[in-house]
Amino acid sequence: MNTDKNILVIEDEKKVAKAIKEGLEREGFSADIAYNGEEGFFQLNSKNFDLVILDLNLPGRDGIEILKTIRQKGVKTPVLILTARDSVDSKVVGLETGADDYLVKPFAFPELIARIRVLLRRGKSEQETYLRLGDLEMDLLSRKVVRSGQVIQLTVREFELLEYFLKNKNKIISREMLSKDVWKEVVRATPLDNVIDVHITHLRRKIDDHFAAKLLHTLRGVGFILSDTKPQ
Ligand code: CA
Repeated sequence: MNTDKNILVIEDEKKVAKAIKEGLEREGFSADIAYNGEEGFFQLNSKNFDLVILDLNLPGRDGIEILKTIRQKGVKTPVLILTARDSVDSKVVGLETGADDYLVKPFAFPELIARIRVLLRRGKSEQETYLRLGDLEMDLLSRKVVRSGQVIQLTVREFELLEYFLKNKNKIISREMLSKDVWKEVVRATPLDNVIDVHITHLRRKIDDHFAAKLLHTLRGVGFILSDTKPQ
């Protein structure tokens, strides 16, 4: 079943976007739509997706620009680009920029689904055992955390927290996401916010206090972000 797979469709043609979303849902995926690059970029930053379907020809920020930015930020979500029949160049640029596959419009829907399945399977086999951000490294197999060559001792919960942040680096993480994904609280209990904040404080003390460059930032009223560039 695909029900746990969430796909983002970035496509400005409303009819096409809706048709893709409906088709995906019929196949058991869940799908969100962004009608332009800005919106797509915002959604990618605020939610986890298993795959992105990206139209290259978009108003404003075009598909290539979005692709470039998300790959620069270290987002590894598989991206399937949609391109017009006559623009072979953009297809090549797209693949060089970090797209995983492409499909020429107009396409047959079963072909789209087949390619999505391949990309999702491939993603699974390449599960990372080694995570890093700047000089902070985490080895998931030996459960070792190192920053600038110094070994950092974490509790089990702090380790899980950091693992989650590293897997979602440069993304805004809300307390709600932490509550659901790290603490596995299905029903959000408000008092958990305090628990989360205490753990964040402890984690920050260990990974950031003795280092000039801070990685774990608090975004007031929003949540947190693990990033080696200071958020605005
Ligand atoms: Ca378009």
